[in-house]
Amino acid sequence: MTDSRPKPKATAPANAPRTGLVLEIQRMSTEDGPGIRTTVFFKGCPLKCRWCHNPESISPRPEIVWHQARCLGCRTCLEVCPEKALSLTADGLVIDRKRCRGCGTCAEECPSTALEKLGTYWTAANLAREAAKDRAYFNRSGGGITASGGEAGLQAEFVADFLAHCQSLGLRTALDTSGHVHPEALETLAGKADLILFDLKEIDPSRHKAWTGQGNQLILDNFRRLAGWIDEGRTGAGLWVRTPLIPGATDRAETVRAIGRFIAEQGGGRVERWELCAFNNLCREKYNRLGLTWDFAQAPLMPRADLEALAETARASGVNPGIVQTGGATRLEALDRSGSSGPGDSPDRPRPDLRLIQGGRSTSQLDDSTAEPKPQPREVTP
Ligand code: SF4
Ligand code: SF4
Repeated sequence: MTDSRPKPKATAPANAPRTGLVLEIQRMSTEDGPGIRTTVFFKGCPLKCRWCHNPESISPRPEIVWHQARCLGCRTCLEVCPEKALSLTADGLVIDRKRCRGCGTCAEECPSTALEKLGTYWTAANLAREAAKDRAYFNRSGGGITASGGEAGLQAEFVADFLAHCQSLGLRTALDTSGHVHPEALETLAGKADLILFDLKEIDPSRHKAWTGQGNQLILDNFRRLAGWIDEGRTGAGLWVRTPLIPGATDRAETVRAIGRFIAEQGGGRVERWELCAFNNLCREKYNRLGLTWDFAQAPLMPRADLEALAETARASGVNPGIVQTGGATRLEALDRSGSSGPGDSPDRPRPDLRLIQGGRSTSQLDDSTAEPKPQPREVTP
């Protein structure tokens, strides 16, 4: 669910408290740690994963996006832009991103909210207070706050401050990290998180570089460091590993097996959960709004049977089989309205119903001490 409440102004005086750049505050999340959570997505990421589901989080600066369906063609934005970064053509509004400095004036003046500024500066205290508004859900479900991104570690001092504020308000905290962060940043954050969600996408360094734009030595070293800090009691955080299963990239038995071996050898008994997260294509429109093309725009969802086969591979890779969980979106072959199922999707055929399943948890694993309704898996029909 996207936060629709008013946000604070983006600019702050020079002597104001340190601020962090937040892309989005997502409430009622069930996929970023235990229970019902509020996930704060921070802007900026050192990786360029070709399948990225949050392309608007990659840039460490505010950005403008245009919603074509809302535009009146009034040209107000062209007149107010101090950088002359906008032009209206037969194909629509063109944003010269080399000129645009993300000031947001065009979005403020647009009469129809066709322009949206992505990225808002918050102080740590205000952000924690905002997140704490959902405290009732956290208490009943065993949830809390998750700092995600982008890569939250790029704003480590601010995020640590934010997590500390959350903890002082009695909230449970989690850090979702790519692992591609300076070790000192990771150590700072590990000390403020009750849970760390650590991505392991690929063990082969050349494949990792080809798919994410970066090698994985820092990530693997940071994972080993984290395991050591847990052993030494330098962090009390729990440790979950997450692996995205991307069609043609990481959805291979060899990749899953290699990650499993690495977890078994380097993570030992510290890893409480290993989530295999099936690819979803719900972010296509985000790429369009940013004027970007997406390599995976036509990639199909994974059949449920393939996801389960990779989960079996993971369980046989040397880890404790009980830590392996699955999540993400899968095809429901039986509900394919075309009447047939299986691979070989054609653009001409009606697409099958999609089902998003929760991130490795069944609803029965939520706190049963409450009589409140529990979150249900979301149904999505394209
Ligand atoms: S954000 Fe500022 S610089 Fe960028 S297009 Fe809008 S008004 Fe121009
Ligand atoms: S101000 Fe808004 S509605 Fe008017 S042309 Fe610009 S984007 Fe379209």
